[in-house]
Amino acid sequence: MKIKRGVKINGAKPELLFGLLICQRVYEEHGVELRVTSICEGRHKRASAHYTGRGADLGTKSEANGQQYGQSLKAEITAGLKEDLGSEFDVILERDHIHVEYDPKE
Ligand SMILES: [Zn+2]
Repeated sequence: MKIKRGVKINGAKPELLFGLLICQRVYEEHGVELRVTSICEGRHKRASAHYTGRGADLGTKSEANGQQYGQSLKAEITAGLKEDLGSEFDVILERDHIHVEYDPKE
């Protein structure tokens, strides 16, 4: 797992960090390295989860060639994340990243 330069982890909830360990394994299973592109900083469509330390964005771009992963790889990773993170996390495939957030329903 790598953290993109400039990403602020201050305030990230332990529940989210625990989830990122699972995300790392899912990425590894697909032969790619997890790159965390955002946690608490930046501007987000789904802002509240980031600002409360419950949301993270995961990169979907190959470091080798700078291109986005293919749609099938993105879909497989997203499905794996949903499966392994369980019901307390939301996983949303966005155009150029995967948003995950700790969002317990009760
Ligand atoms: Zn996000």
